[in-house]
Amino acid sequence: MSAAEALKAARAAGVHIGIDGDSLTLEAAAEPPHAVLDLLSRHKADVLALLRIRENDRSGADWLAFVYERARIAEFRMGLSRAEAEDRAFDCCVVEWLNRNPVRSQPGHCLRCGEAEDAHAPLLPFGTETTGHAWLHSRCWSAWHTSRRAEAVAALSSMGISN
Ligand SMILES: [Zn+2]
Repeated sequence: MSAAEALKAARAAGVHIGIDGDSLTLEAAAEPPHAVLDLLSRHKADVLALLRIRENDRSGADWLAFVYERARIAEFRMGLSRAEAEDRAFDCCVVEWLNRNPVRSQPGHCLRCGEAEDAHAPLLPFGTETTGHAWLHSRCWSAWHTSRRAEAVAALSSMGISN
């Protein structure tokens, strides 16, 4: 069992973990299961390290708070099961990570295959005005998006967040 798995078990039990100095803070609607507390205390140093990872302007603890909040909204406001709420929250996290780590490219060439546009395959701008655009052939978008998503999943999992 790793620190990431301990975090996941805590989330599954509805325990929200934060950091205060060198301590973990726990927040839960009900008394957390003993097994979860035991896991957290055994992996405390590694859990603290995960929560302290910083990426851009966000820490592991910020991401954890984000995913926890999204799961709570999905479960209590949208009435999803805990498992569905966790899945949805993780997807929100991936989208948030992609928005916070946008990729921009110049319009002359496809970001995926590197080729220019031609009459049959124009280059299209993907993204938003605020994040900037990545230019791709429509046939290249799906593979590009899949690899971007994998990048987000890897970054989140390095901070102990997985689905
Ligand atoms: Zn292309």
